[in-house]
Amino acid sequence: MRDIRTVGENLADRDKKHLWHPLTQHKISPHMLPIKSAKGSILIDEEGKEYIDAISSWYTAVYGHCNSYITDRVAKQMQNLDQVVFSGFTHKPAIELSEALIKILPEGQQKLFFNDNGSTATEIGIKMALQYHHNSGNDRQVMLAFEEGFHGDTFGAMSVSGLSVYNGAFEDHFTRVERLPVPNGKNNDEVISILKDLISKHNIAGFIYEPLVQGAAAMKFHDAGGLNEILKVCRRNDIILVADEVMTGFGKTGKYFASDYIEQKPDVICMSKALTAGLLPMGLTSCSQKIYDAFYSDDIAKGLFHGHTYTANPLACSAALAAVELLVSDEIQENIHRISNANKEFAKKLSSKAKVKNARSKGVIMAFELDVKMERYGNLRNEIFKFFMDNGVFLRPLGSTIYIVPPYTISEAELKKVYSVIEGSLLAF
Ligand SMILES: *Cc1c(COP(=O)(O)O)cnc(C)c1O
Repeated sequence: MRDIRTVGENLADRDKKHLWHPLTQHKISPHMLPIKSAKGSILIDEEGKEYIDAISSWYTAVYGHCNSYITDRVAKQMQNLDQVVFSGFTHKPAIELSEALIKILPEGQQKLFFNDNGSTATEIGIKMALQYHHNSGNDRQVMLAFEEGFHGDTFGAMSVSGLSVYNGAFEDHFTRVERLPVPNGKNNDEVISILKDLISKHNIAGFIYEPLVQGAAAMKFHDAGGLNEILKVCRRNDIILVADEVMTGFGKTGKYFASDYIEQKPDVICMSKALTAGLLPMGLTSCSQKIYDAFYSDDIAKGLFHGHTYTANPLACSAALAAVELLVSDEIQENIHRISNANKEFAKKLSSKAKVKNARSKGVIMAFELDVKMERYGNLRNEIFKFFMDNGVFLRPLGSTIYIVPPYTISEAELKKVYSVIEGSLLAF
């Protein structure tokens, strides 16, 4: 075999030649840090320097990097069936995964539709809501979403996302969306009256929401009771409830799904990120029997005609199944409990400190705002990021919000180090 690889060491320089990175303005941020390997909670760079992955690589690798329980299963699957068309064919990894997931999903979920990532998972959630009404003969074309929600980067997902600072070039192409403020406990009645007003003025098909924690909005928490009231009003008005659990799913809030904290259960749930434990890209959109029934017909046009080439890839399914087995294990549940308690204590400790605003935690998610004068630091966010990296902790602050979502397998010592570097940042800024 001819080796067509370029010979050379410096990955950071070679990266610049052909690669275009996501969410990056390359003129402002030209340097990418090459990561050579990862194991458990640790990322290791080209020079051998170690970083604790305190955000589980965007909330994916929650059972630790290169977890052999998962990699062994995928390696085995790889020798048996790598990929096959999922229209007209089926396979054991998908079937076993569906059976396992239905056991842990919130009550009422019955059918699973595969896709490739979080954005397509929500895209299909939106399609399910719109086509549910279309198939039922209802004229409902409008989606409802929270202000500052984030649901992904494809067109439908962008449309319902409230954080649209980066979406200016596409706004003329968005689907129709009305927005609702997030309930904070104090404004709940006002939110309900805004909701009722929107329902009376628009033909709303579905409501898409990140339950309890809005990740990209800088780990903003909202009121469970307030959300429950919103869901009740929506349900009474036959508005399809689409829970985007791409970030919150699979244990991050302390329960399997954030929807488990809320009495009103969703009609549709969007999943990705920790679904495959950081191993392979995959998304899933689950729904209730009621939604499925609206597509079940002798009329071919009433079907959900959406399909990605890699739908239900057997390797991704086997990774997801191994991940679910880990999630429900006593060991991982105890770890989630341990981190949740430690986070709660740490948030309490931080609350008494100067420069700390709104320290909060839910499950393994812990966040606060660093209350310092931004002007003093040029780009505060980048300075904070650098501080953490220099101290061996990988975090991605959002503006002045510092947050962690550590792997469930993080050791006591590693978690203590993350906390102590966070405390160090309070002195440094
Ligand atoms: C990350 C995220 C998405 C998008 O997922 P991708 O896999 O990045 O497309 C959608 N919704 C929420 C809540 C997310 O956190």
